[in-house]
Amino acid sequence: MVTSIKPHRDEVGLREGLLLIGGDWRPAQDGRTWTHAHPATGEEVAAFPIAGPADVDAAVRAARRAFDDGPWPRARATERIRVMRKIADLVREHGAELLALQALDNSVPLSFGSVYATSPAFVADVFDHHAGWVDKLAGETLPPYQGGDHLVLTLREPIGVVGAVVPWNAPILLAAQKIAPALAAGCTIVLKPSEFATFSVLRLAALIEEAGLPAGVLNVVTGPGEPTGDALISHPMVDKLSFTGSRAVGRKIMHAAADGFKRVSLELGGKSPALIFADADVATAAAITMGTVTLGLSGQVCLAQTRALVHRDVADEFLATAEVIGGMVSYGNPFDPAVTAAPLINTRQLDRVLGLIAEGQAAGARLVCGGARSEGDLAGGNFVAPTLFTDVTNDMSIAREEIFGPVLSVIPFSDEAEALAIANDTEYGLAATVWTSDLKRAMRMTKGIRAGTVGVNGYQLEPHAAFGGYRQSGLGREGGRAAIESYTELKTVLLPFTDEMM
Ligand code: NAD
Repeated sequence: MVTSIKPHRDEVGLREGLLLIGGDWRPAQDGRTWTHAHPATGEEVAAFPIAGPADVDAAVRAARRAFDDGPWPRARATERIRVMRKIADLVREHGAELLALQALDNSVPLSFGSVYATSPAFVADVFDHHAGWVDKLAGETLPPYQGGDHLVLTLREPIGVVGAVVPWNAPILLAAQKIAPALAAGCTIVLKPSEFATFSVLRLAALIEEAGLPAGVLNVVTGPGEPTGDALISHPMVDKLSFTGSRAVGRKIMHAAADGFKRVSLELGGKSPALIFADADVATAAAITMGTVTLGLSGQVCLAQTRALVHRDVADEFLATAEVIGGMVSYGNPFDPAVTAAPLINTRQLDRVLGLIAEGQAAGARLVCGGARSEGDLAGGNFVAPTLFTDVTNDMSIAREEIFGPVLSVIPFSDEAEALAIANDTEYGLAATVWTSDLKRAMRMTKGIRAGTVGVNGYQLEPHAAFGGYRQSGLGREGGRAAIESYTELKTVLLPFTDEMM
């Protein structure tokens, strides 16, 4: 039995959740609540309200008022920057508390919080990065097309009310990647966190409020996709939908955007490849590839490189190291510093991962290690042993489906052309890594791979670099100029400087 999570709830001072609407913290109008079973133990940690259509309507109207009449869209750049930098400072100051709340939410171990891209320090950097854009959201001055005495200007204006929906796997980071650009552009927001990770996001919202954001600029409605998410994405007063999550829900968001002619950004899933050539540092490539699929979030990561395309000459060396890494994963209570990886988020996901593993075996893939639910002391949680398959072909479901669990599939290749063809033979296109010591090969591969981010001999998220997907991995980007501009409308102004124009 993994030690109970409940004492940590008391240490962190976790209270039952409330909705944040127009600057007030309140329960749902119909009093309904949701309690999520903790993934490591099955315990019910605390309840939060299920926002119904009336609550969502109140939140959207509060955001609408704050946009149409409130100070935030009209604030001086210096004021917006000051508040956003204060948010970053508060996130840094409360980093340990946010990590503890995340562990209560989704059981991501505290030890993983020191990994940069999943740490509160990175979340703070996301706010700092976007604060830097506030006074740089410039339009252009164009020469009049047919000459004449007027100027043609373009202005970047905030898009309006943003409906943001985020998943559970990196809850505060993924919420920040929507809140920060929306705030920097002068928008107002209604955010719906995942029903499987709510408390860390509610605390982030309270810190944002403490930083001095005017009431109604950020509103938070909690609850599952139906009724809460559905009411938000279909609300006629929302101008833009910004979503991170699965392809299936992303499709619904796109339909809702089409129905209401809303702007839309989508960050969806992936089935990303790591290409390991014979001239690479194979041991490092194997350790990092297996590590990113099994440690920390246990492969519940959109950009996890779950297809290892390995040159035939080094496949045995790769498998030997990857198996050792799989054996080093330590499961248990996320508050235990020795624990290095999370359970799967819920029993539905547990069944799905075990089902895909069984399909891989039935299709002829060879199981090197793992492949089963963890038993004994871990039987009360949703733990699956780190799993490594080899002799996988790219048509098997384990090579095509986003498994979202600790499962790495090794697919052998013979030359560059074959590696590239397998890498691109997917409906997704989120990320990839190329492992080689040959710079020219690295350049050939990075140019040929159809994915939003390609790492060479490693992979690192950067808060100021665009992140997003080709093909069914999404629409639009987060981070950098492309992201912030997607929270703006472009207005053209024709400005005469004589009495006659055109
Ligand atoms: P999910 O799509 O099941 O849920 C995401 C969010 O959508 C949750 O808040 C959920 O409540 C909400 N939702 C569900 N049904 C809805 C509906 N009908 N209307 C409105 N909202 C609805 O995804 P998940 O299981 O929480 O997260 C895992 C997925 O997220 C994976 O596919 C992963 O690849 C993806 N993801 C992508 C990125 C990225 O940046 N590309 C980052 C993290 C996770």
